[in-house]
Amino acid sequence: MAEFSLDLNEEQRDLRDWAHGFAAEVIRPAAAEWDEREATPWPIITEAAKIGLYGFEFLVNAYSDPTGLSLPIATEELFWGDAGIAMSIMGTGLAVAAIYGSGTPEQFLEWVPQCFGDAADPRVAAFCSSEPEAGSDVGAMRTRARYDEATDEWVISGQKAFATNGGIASVHVVTAVVDPELGARGQAAFVVPPGTPGLTGAKKHRKLGLRASHTADVFLDDVRVPGSCLLGGKDKLDERLARVREGVRSAGSASMRTFESTRPTVGAQAIGIARAAYEYSLDYAKSRVQFGRPIIENQAIAFALADMRMEIDAARLLVWRAAWMGRMERSFDAGEGSMSKLKAGEVAVRVTEQAVQILGGAGYVREHPVERWYRDAKIYTIFEGTSEIQRLVVARAISGMQIR
Ligand SMILES: Cc1cc2nc3c(=O)[nH]c(=O)nc-3n(C[C@H](O)[C@H](O)[C@H](O)COP(=O)(O)OP(=O)(O)OC[C@H]3O[C@@H](n4cnc5c(N)ncnc54)[C@H](O)[C@@H]3O)c2cc1C
Repeated sequence: MAEFSLDLNEEQRDLRDWAHGFAAEVIRPAAAEWDEREATPWPIITEAAKIGLYGFEFLVNAYSDPTGLSLPIATEELFWGDAGIAMSIMGTGLAVAAIYGSGTPEQFLEWVPQCFGDAADPRVAAFCSSEPEAGSDVGAMRTRARYDEATDEWVISGQKAFATNGGIASVHVVTAVVDPELGARGQAAFVVPPGTPGLTGAKKHRKLGLRASHTADVFLDDVRVPGSCLLGGKDKLDERLARVREGVRSAGSASMRTFESTRPTVGAQAIGIARAAYEYSLDYAKSRVQFGRPIIENQAIAFALADMRMEIDAARLLVWRAAWMGRMERSFDAGEGSMSKLKAGEVAVRVTEQAVQILGGAGYVREHPVERWYRDAKIYTIFEGTSEIQRLVVARAISGMQIR
């Protein structure tokens, strides 16, 4: 009988320790500075690229782990270091996932290396799906892509909202409507190559958390890309649209396919933040003395810490299960990908809030990192599908009903 084990193998343990070392020595010490500067930490991205923690090869190795756990393991460690900086390093992964999920192997080999650049000149990439009128409701997308047969080019126009790395990216992956009559099923994803005229990143947002990560709206004004930039190719798109018109179910929109595959990794990001806050508040509770004894000797504090640890472990198990299922190409029949992100995001919010409480006044001021973790955690109930939308996905999956 095949053996069942939750032990990490040697390669996974090495990967975890390596990523942790970088997080502890390089990311964590720089976290407060980049949070205050609200700027992309290029020197740290460069260092990560130099040691091979950021780049095409790292990603291919992580993707090829047959258990699917490498990416969540490394992600948790980097986000334990700092979420804003780690998002600057890992944000490229969303565009890469879109190219991997919707593109051909040739497109993967052509564009993914350009997403990362090289160690001497690292680049980042952006995935632009959300729009001012289309956040949770991906079907309300207004950005249009029109095929110009004479030149074999696609012409894309519209506005994208809140894109991580929007405007500073080398490669932008943009979703757009190609057939307005088909709603979310009439959408496709395109690579916009570096330096393409007509794409501008405007209005960088100032944020509550993840402040070292660049978030901006992106404008596309008659952006012309070669026909070969349509992910998956035109024949496949035409076939898919024909099937949808005939009423055959398709694999969903390009945006939804990307988000489904990245949700466990996003869950791992949230767990990294939660674990940082839990560890810090555990240490603090052991050393902070009130009423003549360490505050952890009060059940109110000790039980809170017990719950924090239990919730983090539970969330990690859901993330690892979803990552494993994704790698095994099991379908998420009960919305397991959404479950993992939903649980991890809500645990991160709850645990960081509890950590602030355990530190008391020290938790509220910037001399301690806990207030930053509290701010950083909140995005995990919002982006890549809000908690409400994740519940909708799970509810629909388990019931087979059109829950609204
Ligand atoms: C820091 C940051 C980074 C981001 N990065 C990216 C990125 O790289 N690429 C990208 O494409 N997008 C990105 N986003 C956008 C993000 O994915 C959206 O903000 C998110 O999907 C929510 O959309 P919205 O903001 O329009 O909220 P809305 O959709 O307007 O939702 C508002 C509220 O209504 C609720 N709601 C909406 N519909 C329903 C419903 N049917 N049932 C119950 N409740 C509902 C929501 O849950 C939420 O609470 C980013 C956002 C931020 C803040």
